[in-house]
Amino acid sequence: MDVSETQIDRQRMDVDIVCVGFGPATAGFLATLSKQLMNVDGTPAVESGTAPGMPPQVICYERADDIGFGVSGVVTRARALRASFPEIEKAGIPMAAPVGEEKVLYLLDPHGASRRSMTLRASDKFIRAFKWMLPVERDALNLPWSPSFLHKRGGMVLSMGQFMQWVGALVQSTGTVQIWPGTPVSQVLIEEDKVVGVRLLDQGVDKEAQPSEGFTPGMDIRAALTVVGDGPVGSIGQQLDAHFDVPHGHHARDWAIGMKFVVDLPADTPLNPGTVLHTFGYPEPEIFGFLYVHPGNVASLGVFVPSWFDSPVRTAYRYLQHWMLHPYLWRYLQGAKLRSWGAKTLGESGRRGEPHLAGDGYARIGEGSGSTNVLTGSGVDEAWATGTQLAEAVLELLKAKKPFTKQNLKETYMKRRRASWLEQESTIAEKSRDGFQRGVVTGMIGMALAGLTNGKFTLGREPVQPWKRIPSVEEFYAGRISREEIATLRESCKAANVPLHGALMDKAGWPKIPHDGKLLVSHQDALLMGGKVQAPPGYADHVLFLYPELCEKCGTKICIEACSGQAITPGQEGVPAFDREKCIHCGACYWNCSQPLSYDPERTNIAFRTGAGGLHSAEN
Ligand SMILES: Cc1cc2nc3c(=O)[nH]c(=O)nc-3n(C[C@H](O)[C@H](O)[C@H](O)COP(=O)(O)OP(=O)(O)OC[C@H]3O[C@@H](n4cnc5c(N)ncnc54)[C@H](O)[C@@H]3O)c2cc1C
Ligand code: SF4
Ligand code: SF4
Repeated sequence: MDVSETQIDRQRMDVDIVCVGFGPATAGFLATLSKQLMNVDGTPAVESGTAPGMPPQVICYERADDIGFGVSGVVTRARALRASFPEIEKAGIPMAAPVGEEKVLYLLDPHGASRRSMTLRASDKFIRAFKWMLPVERDALNLPWSPSFLHKRGGMVLSMGQFMQWVGALVQSTGTVQIWPGTPVSQVLIEEDKVVGVRLLDQGVDKEAQPSEGFTPGMDIRAALTVVGDGPVGSIGQQLDAHFDVPHGHHARDWAIGMKFVVDLPADTPLNPGTVLHTFGYPEPEIFGFLYVHPGNVASLGVFVPSWFDSPVRTAYRYLQHWMLHPYLWRYLQGAKLRSWGAKTLGESGRRGEPHLAGDGYARIGEGSGSTNVLTGSGVDEAWATGTQLAEAVLELLKAKKPFTKQNLKETYMKRRRASWLEQESTIAEKSRDGFQRGVVTGMIGMALAGLTNGKFTLGREPVQPWKRIPSVEEFYAGRISREEIATLRESCKAANVPLHGALMDKAGWPKIPHDGKLLVSHQDALLMGGKVQAPPGYADHVLFLYPELCEKCGTKICIEACSGQAITPGQEGVPAFDREKCIHCGACYWNCSQPLSYDPERTNIAFRTGAGGLHSAEN
């Protein structure tokens, strides 16, 4: 049934503040705000505009089915977290540990299957030849020194899922704010360039969002202030950018897909809680890895596949398995068992990706506001800090009975943000990764240079749109797999309706993954055992192929290769098919699509709208 918006009878609710997304940024906002809305005698410290005599009505909508179902590391210096919770170490947060031993490891390729530049090959040879005098162990060089900006000394290893559940309970126990998980926000409501609230997602619709059985239109939530903390792939942030544009010269071209396992380590593991390992060099030189140890023999581990990885085979899952099997890591992981799994985008544009931070009726916080520090690889503390800065600003404005105008938010929220450590450090970090545009070695040198000179000197160039960097499969495998062989593999994978990367990697010399049913499991099993992915019925598809004709002529089909959940498959007549029931909302398809839109080269042929469901694990 085709129904126009004018025929829909939407309910409306008025509140003072509505928040989109409950990630660390909004958690920081609500943790700070909720404590100060009431006086100790139970009277409102500031008054609601919608319910006179009451404290402000504050409500937060989270897309995922429960609090803490997102994916994140985390090792953090926890400066902002500690400012909010000075006793955080003693709070009894599950899976939390103080940072202990930290190592940065350069992993050599034990199989010779990765793609290495001449410079890397030469340095690998050197390391192998002189391993008797270098700290080399099981094909890994333990860097004897790493710059202090990479360290998290004095910080904490956390499970973001567990931390978020802890904060969520704490914040709601104040009785001053409400958090509604399983409630995606579909639209930001804008009237004459003023944000006046949000619309919740329609339920009881078909894949194309048309009303069907049990149609329940999403409610309109009108608010004096809309706080947008919807992370790096949030559709509400995208709508704001589309309406208000981004500041001149800013763009979000730098990102990574982080894929992560939480595992039970073997009972006799020598790794102590708080151990932090960071790796680079393998399975491909561009792929970074991490392993953090929680109490109770549990570890979080994973890889990041970055936007500047010049490969049409950006499959995080298989690369993660090869990474775990690296001899240095496998001695710790052999016998380990998968507990949970997931993937998520990490927005790495930092300050360069900053949108307009505030406007009439709205403010943006967290990673979607460009807060993540790309030099130190730290996002949680920074996101939290932006939330606390906004909360202080909001309290100031509420006390002064001033409206949430662009100017007032500029003088309170933006002023605090610009004056803080966050701004100082993100300015240092702004160009620190530009070297990766010219290769891994230049990238690493550039980061060191920027870090050691406080950002005065950097290497490289402004990031180009990632679609410009994606070669064809034939170009990428030139000299290793012939065009004829690629054509044959393409046909057989198409006939089997599976991605191409597995067959290509086998052919290029990557060993088969020895599945053990515990840790090394098939991608499908990871979805079920680790992600416990669910998609409630009655919601529209949130991944859309905007122009099927672009897909038809697309040679890389990188959306299929990069899909973290095997939710995108070859489909009919060159247009991929999307299966909502396998989607983990990581955003890899949105970022990786290789075909730009003719009218906006910053966007590609995939639209990523608000969707329901996804991962069902609060351990990540
Ligand atoms: C694998 C991985 C490892 C990482 N490791 C580290 C680390 O070790 N240390 C570190 O400091 N940082 C790390 N990060 C980065 C860190 O996770 C982010 O910087 C941080 O989570 C950003 O917080 P945020 O609140 O801005 O956004 P997010 O954490 O992305 O939260 C946004 C929330 O909004 C919700 N949402 C989105 N759209 C809607 C909508 N329309 N309606 C309702 N809800 C919506 C989402 O479901 C989500 O819960 C890692 C990231 C990844 C992916
Ligand atoms: S969505 Fe993008 S990458 Fe996927 S087939 Fe279409 S154009 Fe190619
Ligand atoms: S379809 Fe879903 S799981 Fe696949 S890449 Fe896109 S967001 Fe991630």
